[in-house]
Amino acid sequence: MKPQTANRTGRRAFLKSGAAAAIAGFWANDTLAAATQFVNTNSRPSDLKITDLRVAVVTGAPFTSAIIRLDTNQDIYGLGEVRDGASKNYALMLKSRLLGENPCNVDKIFRKIKQFGFHGRQGGGVSGVEMALWDLAGKAYGVPVYQMLGGKFRDSIRIYTDTTESKDIKEYARRMKERMDRGFTFLKMDLGYQLVQDTAGTVSQPKGLTSQELERTPHMFTSIELTDKGIAMMADYVAAVREAVGMEIPLAADHFGHIGVNYCIRLGRALEKYNMAWLEDMIPWQYSELLKKITDTIAVPTLTGEDIYLKESFLELCRNHVVAKIQPDLATAGGILETKKIGDLAQEYGVPMAMHFAGTPVSMMANVQCAAATQNLIALEYHSTDVPWWDDLAEGVDKPIVNRGFVKVPERPGLGISLNEKTVKQHLGEPGFFEPTRQWDKARSNDRLWS
Ligand SMILES: [Mg+2]
Repeated sequence: MKPQTANRTGRRAFLKSGAAAAIAGFWANDTLAAATQFVNTNSRPSDLKITDLRVAVVTGAPFTSAIIRLDTNQDIYGLGEVRDGASKNYALMLKSRLLGENPCNVDKIFRKIKQFGFHGRQGGGVSGVEMALWDLAGKAYGVPVYQMLGGKFRDSIRIYTDTTESKDIKEYARRMKERMDRGFTFLKMDLGYQLVQDTAGTVSQPKGLTSQELERTPHMFTSIELTDKGIAMMADYVAAVREAVGMEIPLAADHFGHIGVNYCIRLGRALEKYNMAWLEDMIPWQYSELLKKITDTIAVPTLTGEDIYLKESFLELCRNHVVAKIQPDLATAGGILETKKIGDLAQEYGVPMAMHFAGTPVSMMANVQCAAATQNLIALEYHSTDVPWWDDLAEGVDKPIVNRGFVKVPERPGLGISLNEKTVKQHLGEPGFFEPTRQWDKARSNDRLWS
């Protein structure tokens, strides 16, 4: 990796100059320091050019994420990250459109490449590159990203922790309590019908439905429905968790399984007394009329957004109040600035924003920078509570990164993070640590969207 040391050529030239000598002789030392504080020692932003895009794929964090590095013609580089579970090729295919561009023109480049993203993981390449552009712009000008977004609303970001389920109801409650004891102030539990389906009389579904069929079939087309007994048993899991953690701490739920709309409503009603923070993605976000029907029928907040690319779909969701709360994943939504725009537009409609996140500390800090600068934030998700080496991937930030349920907003330029190469190399999901990618240098298509 290129050294991240500041380019001090400008400062040296200044100090060697006669003008500097005259100033030094005339002023006291601290006055000299004041005179040089505006000399940019990181780079010459107007001459900055992207020269390369390389990738290192990390696995087990707990998911697989491609960290990308944008190199430049100066001694700075930018870090970004493709959405968890997405192909690194979503970023690499953009390389030919980035070479020679000045990364400080973040919005110009974003508008050039955004046609190559889409919903879900397909938004991962554009979003990852956008993070790396901001990292470079911040390093070039010597400021943290949040400052370029208009400044910060908060110095630390509230985290909510995801929790994987256990069929053992006591064990599940213990896991949730343990997270609260570690200082988390906001919790989420997975609540799939799979928790109860081994018990007779809980779930009706067509015999022989394979897991592959289920995976690819949206909820309302599976014919999977819950019985009263099944709904009561699922509610028992929430009751046990509430008993362990109390009623005061916000508690959200996700991953209900592919059940139909009417049974989402019945389950939602059964959960009303547990004061849920939100019920997440009960059905796919594209079926907005059906989602609105659930939202309008149950007295529990609904939420969606982690698979939506760009602000336009969020605008429709918020304007029509299809859900009570939104949750973009910055690594799908289009990156840092697009996610801030989503938060700001949601705020106009009275809709609060949580942030979905499931990556490495690189993407975490992109989220933290955006969260610092966006007023209507609820909390940022964190999936790596049980990954012991997750913090070790990063250098240059306060550790533990997630401390008693909060992440401090870094003050270093750019995203405010660098990589620990040794740890990254220990957790590569495929061979290669920022290897050359010359096969992606040339564009082979006419990208214009009109004739
Ligand atoms: Mg989710």
